[in-house]
Amino acid sequence: MKFCGRVALFFTAMLFALAQPTAAMQEAPLPRSSHVPGGVARIVVAPVTGERKAPPQAWLGDQRVLVIEEGGQWLAIVGLALDTAPGPQELRVHHLGDTRRLPFTVDTKQYPEQRITLKDTGKVQPSDTDLARIALEIAEIKKLKTHWRDTDDTDTRFALPAKGRLSGRFGVRRFFNGEARSPHAGFDIAAPHGSAVTATARGVVLNVGDYFFNGKTVFVDHGNGLISMYCHLDRIDVAVGDTVNKSQRLGLVGMTGRATGPHLHWSVILNSAMVDPALFVPASAMAR
Ligand SMILES: [Zn+2]
Repeated sequence: MKFCGRVALFFTAMLFALAQPTAAMQEAPLPRSSHVPGGVARIVVAPVTGERKAPPQAWLGDQRVLVIEEGGQWLAIVGLALDTAPGPQELRVHHLGDTRRLPFTVDTKQYPEQRITLKDTGKVQPSDTDLARIALEIAEIKKLKTHWRDTDDTDTRFALPAKGRLSGRFGVRRFFNGEARSPHAGFDIAAPHGSAVTATARGVVLNVGDYFFNGKTVFVDHGNGLISMYCHLDRIDVAVGDTVNKSQRLGLVGMTGRATGPHLHWSVILNSAMVDPALFVPASAMAR
């Protein structure tokens, strides 16, 4: 019996060990790779050599791209806009006096459809005054998306910015009252009105605003073209230029702008492309 007990104990210990994710699994590099429109491509640029102080610079088209050091290599972390045509793409790299072109491929992805009915038709068919305001706001947001700040401490491992239920995935092709609108370029978390919205990672507040569609919004610049955007806030607690730490409160969940209920719409911008925020969050946090 004593022997059996030991065997049982051994197998119990083995099962326990197998059930525990290894350190490597827990620390999977982020963002995860997803070579599709709306995804992120991880492209090895060069080994890290003695010239560590001179990281490569990389561009996709005209847009500078985030380069990080990981596992002894310089990696380009490339945001792929939702309207990227699947097929061959090219990264331009400048390193140690050389310019090279690195080809990579973008695969096809079919995102699901969603049909939404809104009672406030003013948000579906805006008036001429609203259209003028919307045009200005689109131009302003477009400019913010291309913002670049050099820093060597960009954190690409994000914490979820609100506690709540996932209520809208990235990339969903939306129809409001039967009319096609732009795809859902963010991630929705349904949370009680007035609950905290927190920074996904350290950064600097790039802009705050109150927009027709996005409502009260905060942009946090994490450096090197990585920016997070938090929309529909009830209240904003930070100002432009503030330095914020990971999980620091930025404001409160609300439903300002075009929203059918209190929720946080969270977008992630990388080299001016809106990409899937879920790729930046550990799988264990997403599974809650
Ligand atoms: Zn949303």
